[in-house]
Amino acid sequence: MTSTWITGRTREILARHGIQLKKSLGQHFLTDQHVLDKMMKAAELDSRTGVLEIGPGVGALTQRLASEAGRVVAVELDGRLVPVLEELFADQPHVSVVHGDVMKVNLAALIRDELGTNPRPSVVANLPYYVTTPILMRLLEERLPLAHIVVMIQKEVAERLTAEPGTKAYGSITVATRYYADPEWVCRVPAHVFIPRPQVDSAVIRLNVRSQPPVEVNHERLLFQIIRAAFNRRRKTLPNALAPLLPADLGKEVLIGALEAAGIDPRRRGETLSLEEFACLTNHLDERIL
Ligand code: SAM
Repeated sequence: MTSTWITGRTREILARHGIQLKKSLGQHFLTDQHVLDKMMKAAELDSRTGVLEIGPGVGALTQRLASEAGRVVAVELDGRLVPVLEELFADQPHVSVVHGDVMKVNLAALIRDELGTNPRPSVVANLPYYVTTPILMRLLEERLPLAHIVVMIQKEVAERLTAEPGTKAYGSITVATRYYADPEWVCRVPAHVFIPRPQVDSAVIRLNVRSQPPVEVNHERLLFQIIRAAFNRRRKTLPNALAPLLPADLGKEVLIGALEAAGIDPRRRGETLSLEEFACLTNHLDERIL
C-alpha cells in the first residue's frame, strides 16, 4: 500500500459515494503510508489484541488495524460513512462499525462486550481536531481497561501532553494526563499528507495507560482543583494562584504552611510543579481546606 495508492483509494471511495467531506466533523483523511507504519509500530498489536478506533473515515487506518489485530471496533459519527465502511469490511467479520458519537457511546460496555479485557485492548485513532481533548480526557478519566492509546492529534496539543514542567507547553492537561498515563512522542505529521489539507500540523503520541496513578492522594478531586487553579493564574506565585480555593475564614498563610511542609518554595509558580509535587501539596492541604 503506497501513499499514492491510499490517496487514489480515498478519492475514489468519496467520489463513488458522492461524499463531500465536512470540516465541522474534523474530516481530514490520512494518506501517508509511512505515518500509518509508525502508528502501527507504536500500537504493538497482535492477533490476540482488540482495538477501538475512533473516527475510521473511509478506513485507511482501519484496514491496517484489521490486518494485525484480532478484533477491531470502529466508532464513526458520520452516518454517510457507516454503510461505506460496512461494505469495505463486509468480508472481515472481526471488524465492526458502530454508528455513534464517541462522546456519547457507552465505551466501558462496548469494550467489555466487543473487545474483552485480557489482554487489555488499545485505542488507535486519527482523532477529529474539534473534540480531541474531551475524547482523550474521557478515555482516561473513565479508567477504561486500556493498554495504550495511540493517537494522531494537532501538534500543539501533542506538545502540551508530552511537555516537561516549567516549559511554555506545560499545562493543567499535561499534569492531568500524567496522572492516568505515561505519554510518549511518536512522530510529527505535516499537514500536506491529509485530504483535505488542514490548517495545522499534527503529531502522533502514545499514552501508556497506567493501572494505578503514580502518586497517592487522599482527595483526588482536590488534586485536580489545585492543578486547575495553579494554571488558571500561571504567572502568579502559588499562594496567590491558589488563594481562590480557600474558605473565607482562612488566609494565605495556610497555603504557605502547606507548601513549606510539602518542601515546595512558596515563591514558585504552579507551572513549575511536577505531578508528584502537586500530589504532595494536596496531601498537606486537604485537612485544612476541605
Ligand atoms: N481515520 C480516518 C483517517 O485516518 O483518515 C479519518 C480521520 S478524521 C481526522 C476524523 C474522523 O472522525 C472522521 O471520519 C469523522 O467523521 C469522525 N468523527 C468526528 N467526530 C466524531 C465523534 N464525535 N465520534 C466518532 N467519530 C467522529
